Amino acid sequence: MADTAPPPPRIPPPITDASRAFWTGGADGQLLIQRCDACDRWIHPPEGACPHCGGGLIAAPVSGKGTIFTFTVNRHQYHPDVPPPYVVAIVELGEQPGLRFTTNIVNCDHDTLQIGAPVRVVFERAGEAWVPVFEPDA
Ligand SMILES: [Zn+2]
Repeated sequence: MADTAPPPPRIPPPITDASRAFWTGGADGQLLIQRCDACDRWIHPPEGACPHCGGGLIAAPVSGKGTIFTFTVNRHQYHPDVPPPYVVAIVELGEQPGLRFTTNIVNCDHDTLQIGAPVRVVFERAGEAWVPVFEPDA
């Protein structure tokens, strides 16, 4: 069944100094992920220093393209302000194997989603945050 209803208002995420770029890059249409200036690894979730080498991290734009690593369609109302159904997914970004985060898949037919399908980032405003979610990238 296609989900054609407009999305409900998003609950603003907590923003920290380390996560500010990730949550606000969408204001400029950019998904910003921290990258180590010493070993060049992309690091997520946001940290204070590279967990591999201790190097400094700088938020840098990624393509916003990735694939669905796994997903589920939630049909139960766990929060009074978040009406089901909605898709909870882990998306792996194209920049680096294992660079994944939990998100939602929007603008899609829930019944045709597949693991491995290409997706691209879109942003949904929530307070001062621009929450990165994904839609099918045909
Ligand atoms: Zn590093």
